Amino acid sequence: MLVNLEKILKDAEAGGYAIGCINTPNMTTLRAVVDAAEEMQTPIIIDHAQVHDPLIPIELIGPKMVEYAKQASVPVCVHLDHGSDYNFVMRALRCGFSSIMYDLSAKPFEENVENLKVFTEMAHKLGVTVEAELGVMTSTEDDTHGDGGGWTHETIKKTFTDPAQAAEFAQRTGVDALAVCFGTAHGIYAEPPVLDIERVKAIREAMPKDCRVVMHGGSGVDADQVRAAINEGVSKVNYYSYMAKACSKHMYEYLKDRDGNAYWHEADEEAYRFMKEYAKEVLAVFKNGKTCTL
Ligand SMILES: [Zn+2]
Repeated sequence: MLVNLEKILKDAEAGGYAIGCINTPNMTTLRAVVDAAEEMQTPIIIDHAQVHDPLIPIELIGPKMVEYAKQASVPVCVHLDHGSDYNFVMRALRCGFSSIMYDLSAKPFEENVENLKVFTEMAHKLGVTVEAELGVMTSTEDDTHGDGGGWTHETIKKTFTDPAQAAEFAQRTGVDALAVCFGTAHGIYAEPPVLDIERVKAIREAMPKDCRVVMHGGSGVDADQVRAAINEGVSKVNYYSYMAKACSKHMYEYLKDRDGNAYWHEADEEAYRFMKEYAKEVLAVFKNGKTCTL
């Protein structure tokens, strides 16, 4: 069933687990992720990133995502990932997305607040939930978010979210979820990330209870640190890069074993199976040993 973020994240925080949010830029990934969620008996957030729109326009993949969500036996939220320009966000709403990340984190604080306040008021009237970002998350060299990379343990500390500012932002805008920075980055990590778990705790304690804490850059973080972040109040974890790369590596071996002699529909089915199993392992970490409310 198609849902927004509100209930699934509330239930997740109360239940001590997190909901995975995975990019689905093609049909193979979309099927794999929704089927993995059904098999794992967990709600799921599927998202289309504005940076993936050159691969497939939202008007083509968006309606498929909504259709899969409606037919799924678990709650599925169809979410826009890092919508940074207003026209694009409007396109997502027109496609029937139930949730929007309107990311103005690159703008000055007051501009981010003013825009998100107006947008959230409008979105809530449509039954659409809103995620924002505070503190600009760095990207690694080969990430598609395109800020040029440059991630190191030292540079990333400058981007960490201030708990008091997160609280003020959430109160003034009324957003449902806030992506905060405490040690993760987008893309493939150059060195293993080290999360500032105390900061997650401080952010959770400072923020209004009905605004959920979101961790981006979840792929590439070891399971123990992910679980520690969930235990301190993270209820949505964005995940994609490592799954996509692992699938390519797997398919390289698959095709090599066959000297490239395979029907593409069979190869594509193999990619689906691989990603579904990979997603199930990831979702098991996010479940944190708990039973999800469906
Ligand atoms: Zn992100």
